[in-house]
Amino acid sequence: MKFIKRTQLKERPSDLQFGKHFTDYMFMMKYHDGGWDYENACIKPYEPFVLDPSTSVFHYGQAVFEGLKAYRNEKGEVRLFRPMDNMNRMNESCWRLCIPQFDAKFVHDALVELVKTEKDWIPTAPGTSLYIRPFVIATDEALGVHSSRNYIMAIILSPVGAYYAHGFDPVRLYVEEHYKRACKGGTGHHKVAGNYAASILAADEAEKRGYDQTLWLDAAENKYMEEVGSMNIFFVINGKVVTPMLGGSILPGITRKSTIALLKARGYDVEERLVSVDEVVSAAENGTLNEIFGTGTAAVVSPVGGFGYKGKDYTVGDGKLGKITKYVYDELTGIQTGVKPDEFGWVEEII
Ligand SMILES: *Cc1c(COP(=O)(O)O)cnc(C)c1O
Repeated sequence: MKFIKRTQLKERPSDLQFGKHFTDYMFMMKYHDGGWDYENACIKPYEPFVLDPSTSVFHYGQAVFEGLKAYRNEKGEVRLFRPMDNMNRMNESCWRLCIPQFDAKFVHDALVELVKTEKDWIPTAPGTSLYIRPFVIATDEALGVHSSRNYIMAIILSPVGAYYAHGFDPVRLYVEEHYKRACKGGTGHHKVAGNYAASILAADEAEKRGYDQTLWLDAAENKYMEEVGSMNIFFVINGKVVTPMLGGSILPGITRKSTIALLKARGYDVEERLVSVDEVVSAAENGTLNEIFGTGTAAVVSPVGGFGYKGKDYTVGDGKLGKITKYVYDELTGIQTGVKPDEFGWVEEII
C-alpha cells in the first residue's frame, strides 16, 4: 500500500459530534481500465475530491457505503467488530448497483492499516469510538445513464462521542403509512446511498410531528413492520423477542444478526417472522408490549419509548429502559470494547 505523508497534522477537535470531524488520513483506490487499481491504492492526506460537474454519481446516484467502528481502551488496545461482514456487505451492495466488486480482504487490510495509522485519533472514554465510513462512487464524466467505467473507493474516519452521553434516551417512532423506503426487488436490502435520499422527506415530517425517527411499513401491504431510519427493530411481546424477518426490503444489519445470535446463545427465544403493526398495537393495548429497541452500528442498541400510528400514541412497557434492551446493549458493547469475553469470535484486535 502506498503512503503519502501529510506535512501538517490537523488540530484535534474539542467536541465529538457525530460525523463532523475527520482524521488526517484517508484510504483511496480507483477503478479504471477494467479493474480496481490495487497497485496505486493509497493512504493519503484527507482532502477534497476534485470532480467534473458531469460526474455520474451526481446525476444518477450510483453510490454505496458502509459504517463500522473501532474501539480503543485505556490500555491502548484497538478493536474492530466483524469488519469482514461490512466488506462482504459492501461487495453485495456493489453488485446490486453494477459497481465492480473488489477484493474484500484487500480492502479490509487497507482499513486496518488506516485505523492503525490514525490510532491516536480514537477516543478512549466510555462509549466513544472511531466511526469508519467506507464508500464507493461512480466517476464517469458523461451524462448517459449506464453503469460507470470509473469509480473511486474511499475510507474516511471520524472520532465520535458517546451516543448516550446523557443516559439512555428512549426514542419515539412514527409509523409511516404513506411513504415507502423500500420494496422487494428494489435496493432496500443493500446499503445504497439513494435509499437515504428517498427517506429524508418522511424523516422530516416525522420530526415535525414530534417524533424522532420513521418506522417503515412494507410497501406491498402497508401492514408489516420493516425497520427504522438506520436501525433494525426488535419487539419484546409477552416476554418473547420478535424481529421482522429479512425479505429483500430490510437492510441485513450486522448488529441485528449479532443480537439474534447473542440472545439465542443465552437461552432467549427469538423469532424472525412477519410482525404486523396490528399485532404490536394490540400488544400495546393489552399490556403485553414489554419492549421495543432498534439495533445499528451508530447507537448499537436504541430503546424505543413509544410510537405513533393513525393519530394515536402508544407507550412501550412502562416507558423506562427495558431489561432485554439493556442486556443486549451491555453484552454487545462489552464484547466490542473487550470488557467481556468474545465467545463468538466477532472481534478483531488490531493493536
Ligand atoms: C446500516 C443500516 C442498518 C444497521 O446495520 P448495522 O450493520 O447493524 O449497522 C439498518 N438499517 C439501515 C437502513 C441501514 O442503512
